[in-house]
Parts: sequence; structure tokens; C-alpha cells
Amino acid sequence: MITTVDLTRESLSDAFNRPITYLRVSVTDKCNLRCVYCMPESGLTWLRRDEVLSYEEIVEIVRAAARVGVRTIRLTGGEPLVRRDLHRLVAGINAIDGIDDIALSTNAVLLEEQLDALVAAGLRRVNISLDTLRPDRFERIARRPGLDGVLRGIDAAVAAGLGPVKLNCVVMRGQNDDEIGEFAQLTRERAVYVRFIEVMPVHENLELQRNAYVSSDEILERVAAVDRIEPVPGPPGNGPARYFAFPGALGAVGVISPLSHDYCERCNRVRLTADGRLRLCLFGDQHVDLRTPLRAGASTAEIAGLLTASMAIKPERHHLRLGEASSRMRAFSEIGG
Ligand code: SAM
Ligand code: SF4
Repeated sequence: MITTVDLTRESLSDAFNRPITYLRVSVTDKCNLRCVYCMPESGLTWLRRDEVLSYEEIVEIVRAAARVGVRTIRLTGGEPLVRRDLHRLVAGINAIDGIDDIALSTNAVLLEEQLDALVAAGLRRVNISLDTLRPDRFERIARRPGLDGVLRGIDAAVAAGLGPVKLNCVVMRGQNDDEIGEFAQLTRERAVYVRFIEVMPVHENLELQRNAYVSSDEILERVAAVDRIEPVPGPPGNGPARYFAFPGALGAVGVISPLSHDYCERCNRVRLTADGRLRLCLFGDQHVDLRTPLRAGASTAEIAGLLTASMAIKPERHHLRLGEASSRMRAFSEIGG
């Protein structure tokens, strides 16, 4: 459906009247892990250096996004911390009027060493991927060692007051689903939010997704088997998770159900890929190239105009179904988680 777009509007909203206030920015397509559900072990072609937006270019796009109402920026990847001096980008974004929340999604392998600089630059929140608490499994799922570093990164983030710290755990039957209870127990004594994510079909993981998919309803049943849980509002923010807590727990358990209970209706976000395309949906092809006009000298107002115009092609919802891959599917790692 094509709609007429009012270029004078100060805030982005799409053809389905969803206000868009959240921009995920992929700063790199590279990663220091190879999680089985996300990236193949080898055979990926990486973007060339000149194809990747510079920090200055990202800041310029964020400035334009802030002009049309984007308030939250989440830095992601690939793995954002493998890009050198990420704190420089955080500082650049932090200086933009209108941006009031800068968050990071990371596997935390390199977090401890970079945390002070990131916080000083204006980082407010962090989401950390953690699929297992066992070193041997970590190495099997991430195809690289590193659990110790991740755990140190989590402790450092909590100690730095980067709250609420959210832990993202992709649940896979036969690989880590027996740790659901253990993960949930972490929320009793710590102010962390453990979010269980249904495995999504990306890249060549279709077989994994068919065999290992565990629905969020089943995940919640297994949490409820540990102890009584009640729905709770969850942390402030714009997340897609539904939250539940044990009585008296300091944290909460969340479930993110892109397949079984999709959150498209509440979608408030778009993504900027590392090579400068604005992707309107995680699982669709709809995108607008911002790098070419930016490098041709487009002004902030012109980029803001492109962002506004792109709203006309944001789809109402994704059409992925359990056990099916779409030809238009894009890996989280390509488009920035
Ligand atoms: N490297 C960072 C990390 O791991 O947090 C940021 C990028 S990662 C692609 C962002 C999130 O996407 C992570 O929480 C990861 O677990 C999740 N993810 C990646 N592939 C997924 C899949 N096939 N199904 C569900 N979640 C996935
Ligand atoms: Fe890397 Fe994150 Fe993908 Fe794992 S989920 S391979 S850490 S980008």
C-alpha cells in the first residue's frame, strides 16, 4: 500500500500509524563469535571497509533521525565491540539534541575492557547475549571460547549501574533448554532481566530452527514449573518482550516471541545496516539506501526527508512462519540484530 507522506511532519510514523522512535544501528557486519543460530562457521563475505559507514556518517544519519522524532539508538552488529573505538561513536551520538537513550547489544566478550570509556561517552543501557552458563556448551553454541569474559562483562555492566541489564538467551531444544530454570533463578537475587528468545530462521539455520524451536509458551511453562510467576511491567524501554517475575525477585524473566506471538503491531523501530541502508523490517527486503545520497552531499534535512518518505514502504508485519524460510529473509548478523 502506498500512502502520501507529509514531509513537514516532525515525527516519523508509518502507513499503519505506528510512531517510529527507535533506530537500531549496525556498526559492523563482523563478529568474534559464530553462534550456531546466527552465522555460519565460515564462507561469509564481509563488507569492504569503504562500504561501511564511518562514525561521522552514522552520526549524520542519527542527527537526521533525531529531527524526525527518533529518541532511542541501539548500537548492534555483528558484534559492535569489535569495531575500534566504539566510544567515539557513542560520544558523537550523545551530543545530538533529541537523542535521550543510547543502548548497546553485545556478546560482552570485549565489554569489560571497553566499559568505562563507553559509559563516560554516554552509554546508558546494555543487552548481553548469553545462551548458556556452561563453558563447554558456550564453545559449542558460539563456536568460540569466551564464557569467562562474558560473565566478567555482565558483572562490570551491573557494577557500572548500566541498568537494567538484560540478558538475551536464545532457547534451543537439546542444546540449552535444560538451563531455562537456572537462568530464571538468576533473576531472584540480581536486578537482571533474563529474556528468552525463540530461535528465528536465518541463514542456513533452518534445520536447527525446525528441530530446536521452543515456543515462548513452553518456555514460560518451564519457568512456572520452578515457582509461581506473575506478569510484571518490565523495565522501561521500548522492548518487544513480555515480562514475568517470581515473588520477591529483584529481576524478571521475559519472553520474546517473534514467531508465536509476533510484536509487529507494536513495532516502533527501523534499522540502519553497516553499509548504510535503512531497513524497514528485520525480515523483509524493503530498504532505502542512505549512503549514496549522504556521500553525494545530502544535507541533514534531505536525509530526514528520505527517512520520512521511507515510512511508506514499512510493511505491516513479517510473514515468517515456524519452519519456513523466506527468500527475502535477512540474517540478524547482516542487518544488525
Ligand atoms: N553480537 C551482539 C549480540 O550477540 O548480542 C549483537 C548482534 S546479535 C545478532 C543481536 C541479538 O540477535 C542477540 O541477542 C542474538 O542472540 C539474537 N539472534 C541472532 N540470531 C538469532 C536467531 N536466529 N534467532 C533468535 N535470535 C537471534
Ligand atoms: Fe555474533 Fe551476536 Fe551473531 Fe552471536 S548472535 S554470532 S555474537 S552477531
